[in-house]
Amino acid sequence: MTSAVVVGSGPNGLSAAVVLARAGVDVTVLEAEDEIGGGTRSAELTVPGVLHDICSAAHPTGVASPFFRSLGLERHGLEWLWPEVDAAHPLDGGRAGVLFRDLDRTVEALGDDGPAWRRLFGPLARHADELIGEIFGPIIHVPRHPLLLAGFGLRALLPASVIARRWTTDEARALFAGMAAHAIQPLQRPTTGGLGLMFGMTGHAYGWPVAKGGSQAIAAALAADLVEHGGRIETGHRVTEMPQADIVVFDTTPATALEVAGDRIPARVRRPLSRWRTGPAIFKVDFAVEGGVPWQNEWARKAGTVHVGGTFEQVNAAENEVHAGRMPTRPFVLVCQQYLADPQRSAGDVHPVWSYAHVPTGFGGDATEAIIAQIERFAPGFRDRIVARTVSGPAQLEAHNANYVGGDIAGGSNDPWQLVMRPRMSPNPYSLGAKGLYLCSASTPPGGGVHGMGGFHAATRALADL
Ligand SMILES: Cc1cc2nc3c(=O)[nH]c(=O)nc-3n(C[C@H](O)[C@H](O)[C@H](O)COP(=O)(O)OP(=O)(O)OC[C@H]3O[C@@H](n4cnc5c(N)ncnc54)[C@H](O)[C@@H]3O)c2cc1C
Repeated sequence: MTSAVVVGSGPNGLSAAVVLARAGVDVTVLEAEDEIGGGTRSAELTVPGVLHDICSAAHPTGVASPFFRSLGLERHGLEWLWPEVDAAHPLDGGRAGVLFRDLDRTVEALGDDGPAWRRLFGPLARHADELIGEIFGPIIHVPRHPLLLAGFGLRALLPASVIARRWTTDEARALFAGMAAHAIQPLQRPTTGGLGLMFGMTGHAYGWPVAKGGSQAIAAALAADLVEHGGRIETGHRVTEMPQADIVVFDTTPATALEVAGDRIPARVRRPLSRWRTGPAIFKVDFAVEGGVPWQNEWARKAGTVHVGGTFEQVNAAENEVHAGRMPTRPFVLVCQQYLADPQRSAGDVHPVWSYAHVPTGFGGDATEAIIAQIERFAPGFRDRIVARTVSGPAQLEAHNANYVGGDIAGGSNDPWQLVMRPRMSPNPYSLGAKGLYLCSASTPPGGGVHGMGGFHAATRALADL
């Protein structure tokens, strides 16, 4: 029987393991931490009974993932729950850009810029299934929908600042800025537009849901599928030496794979992998908030995700500061209010509020006050409602998960080259160049986010190579 070891139990590692186990391979997952899940873990971080997501919170890529959808994870308890508003982007004076899953509602809310929003996102949302099939994998491939992909790809290479020129209102421009800023890159850089397009498209096609009972439900469902197909998981097992198996799949950074596999990886692969660059960091604060966040804007009070940073220009200024290695006074902050869709995460009227700010790589300071001030700017009175909070800076994030080097949660910088060629230029970027060795983490296509597609593709290649 063919044997496989998967190093790391993040969503990509578990997905790789599921593909292999379902194909009859004898699979063991070795996880360094005491709990499985990597970026999909949840815990009572502040007060008893209040459930927080330690890492991932909102799941547009999870619900869109062709691999997750093919598995039928509902059988193992995974249930997506949608908030009334998928995302809101508050502005001064109580205004906001608002993303509803329903395109018509979004167009209406965006007023003068609504028609231009529809012209861009209407066709993308209609063809989302085909486009996701093309872009949730390696860039170098034979497309099934070449015209559709070319139309998307040419725009996706643009900077967000160029795409945003089609809108004139602060609301539409800011809404797009918030989605594009997930790249954690200055918005005048090529390919940042692609992230904005992807998040808008998935928003209108599938919404931005949360997982019932916390993001850990995703890992639990994948793990249950794996065990059902004969796989095993060992926690508390940090891999430092090469495991003995026919197939070894690394759900780790390229650096860890290089360290563990050593000379087995040939120089032609070792060279580009050792040049892999980490990206900027995040600084996370989880709040327990009495009565929820008092956003001035009523849609923000109903939104699962709130992008906090003001206008397009203000968000871009913050991203440029981070890129230059400086902590912005007004950072771009992401806030999630998962309890709105999943009330069981709250304890009475005390609710978990998830937030993080983009900060420079390896930032050693404390961004808590900057985060509170940004939220307070659009939600006066927020500070007084905070019952408890837990802070995780870049160092704590890396201690919690070795993949988050210096607080980079994206598996490597999303600069234009690395976003497209992850982790090197190859039609099979998952292969580590030696028989049976693969990389499947967020450092491979399609990059960061909970979708399992890196794991799916790496394991599928491994089976094909067999
Ligand atoms: C604070 C935060 C917020 C986020 N928000 C979102 C969000 O809202 N939506 C979204 O889609 N994504 C979000 N993400 C990103 C998402 O969590 C990641 O992109 C995703 O988890 C990547 O999956 P992965 O399987 O590649 O790696 P990971 O989930 O990072 O898992 C890697 C696993 O490998 C293990 N490991 C590493 N080295 C070793 C070793 N040597 N031996 C054994 N095990 C090892 C780690 O312990 C870890 O469990 C967020 C991430 C963070 C940190």
